Amino acid sequence: MSHYPKSPVMGQMMSQPLLISSIIQHADRYFGANEIVSRRVEGDIHRYTYRDCHRRARRMANALGGLGVKMGDRVATLAWNGYRHLELYYAISGFGAVMHTLNPRLHPDQIAYIANHAEDQYLFFDTTFLPLVETFAAHCPTVKGFVMMCDRERMPAASKVPNLLCYEDLIGAHSDQYAWPLFDEHSASSLCYTSGTTGNPKGVLYSHRSTVLHSYGLTIPDGLNVSARDVVMPVVPMFHVNAWGLPYALPLTGAKMVLPGAALDGKSVYELLEQEGVTFSAGVPTVWLGLLTYVGENNLGFSTFKRTSIGGAACPPAMLQTFRHRYGVEVTHGWGMTETSPLGTTCTLQRHHLDLPEEEQQAMLEKQGSVVFGVDMKIVGDDGGEAPWDGKTRGDLLVKGHWIASGYFKNEGGDALVDGWFPTGDVATISPDGYMQITDRSKDVIKSGGEWIGSIDLENIAMAHPAVQQAACIGVFHPKWDERPLLVVVRKPGAQVGREELIKFYEGKIAKWWTPDDVAFVEALPIGATGKVLKNRIREQFKGHALPTA
Ligand code: ADP
Repeated sequence: MSHYPKSPVMGQMMSQPLLISSIIQHADRYFGANEIVSRRVEGDIHRYTYRDCHRRARRMANALGGLGVKMGDRVATLAWNGYRHLELYYAISGFGAVMHTLNPRLHPDQIAYIANHAEDQYLFFDTTFLPLVETFAAHCPTVKGFVMMCDRERMPAASKVPNLLCYEDLIGAHSDQYAWPLFDEHSASSLCYTSGTTGNPKGVLYSHRSTVLHSYGLTIPDGLNVSARDVVMPVVPMFHVNAWGLPYALPLTGAKMVLPGAALDGKSVYELLEQEGVTFSAGVPTVWLGLLTYVGENNLGFSTFKRTSIGGAACPPAMLQTFRHRYGVEVTHGWGMTETSPLGTTCTLQRHHLDLPEEEQQAMLEKQGSVVFGVDMKIVGDDGGEAPWDGKTRGDLLVKGHWIASGYFKNEGGDALVDGWFPTGDVATISPDGYMQITDRSKDVIKSGGEWIGSIDLENIAMAHPAVQQAACIGVFHPKWDERPLLVVVRKPGAQVGREELIKFYEGKIAKWWTPDDVAFVEALPIGATGKVLKNRIREQFKGHALPTA
């Protein structure tokens, strides 16, 4: 892949391909006895070690060979965070095939579309998804077999799914004698489709090299700072951007891994955090909202939980403060996307920030933060020229680096890059010391009288109000200003707050003309397949909403 000139004197260091199989080999050899704990869809807690995981992944790799899977073939999964899913992460990629994680929260037609587009050869699924698989299996002609991730006893007596196989039968029938093959590190390792909030989903094809480098990036102190002393619970699903890369990064460090399965409600997450002594976790704000509500309502605290990484959507400052000040849990705000593996930026302070007053430190931590080495970013104005890093000027955010997509699978959507940079579709500012803050997604920006209003700022303020559970801000048509902000709010259970009070709440917190023109109260906000608020759905719902004329 290198087209760069060669020096007449080349370095004399070993060259080994960066392969995903080397991660699980390392974990077995150096952290073999460290635990992987899973809440199974069967309902119980399952425990084993990195050594066990490696052994079963080798058996599964032999099974894939037996099924006729070849290098580069796509093999799909439809599964929660659990040990069998983890085995597949290593078996499929380590074998040289492509691990394709399907998102079970999508509509069945969309899942079938994606499986067909990827030309998946086999599809592995958790028992809970049998009814879902039954709805689309017949529409996936490339899939030669569907493997249910359970033992023989749990297999259904009859099913509409053609060529239904049993996971534990495959494991049981194959030897653990398997030597992971060596191949070019640029080979595809896994495939994840963007959720397609606009247009059809597009496939992001990660490579072994990008995945291994991303894993190093994740673990460094100003990345997610995970070590062999941690107990880590990836709450972010393994079907969403590879659970942010944690299934690779954790075996690399030897951290104990806790996989929460399908139970992502506040109570279940809390119980597992406490029982397993979790020190670090990662997920989108909506999951943490559920956890904080449960902990608050039941007057609980955390005994071992010390740090969490929040990303995938803006972390409301109120959430950050509750974690930090009420529960002593440090929050690392992070930004990324499917196309960035996903680690782009994380927000941690530098030595010189520690002398700043508390409020200024807090304001810094609310940003999405600075890049991890391996990624570079810039913001550009409408003319394509680089915008200044003054913390005020907004621009379109572009990134590049070792683990940033260079295009989409099957060249869907055409050229993805602009002069070698990936346009993220996000709008951001960057401070003089390189701290990026997302102000909006370009399609969510509210344009009032030709000026931009940052919807994230408006939402963050609303969510700091004690009666507000969740808030989303959208632009609605205005005859004079083109668009004006409408705040859509879910109240906390039993809480009272009205339009006037919320509008008044903005006073002094923001430029007056940014204040929402109106507030609409709803029972719930529409949430998409990756746990994020679907603003396009809200925009549809409130299309034609009449703003007060005063
Ligand atoms: P989608 O949301 O389309 O399913 P991704 O999961 O790849 O796709 O989401 C990436 C997008 O999520 C980013 O482009 C950005 O808009 C948003 N995002 C991610 N992290 C943050 C964050 N910390 N703050 C604000 N927005 C974020």
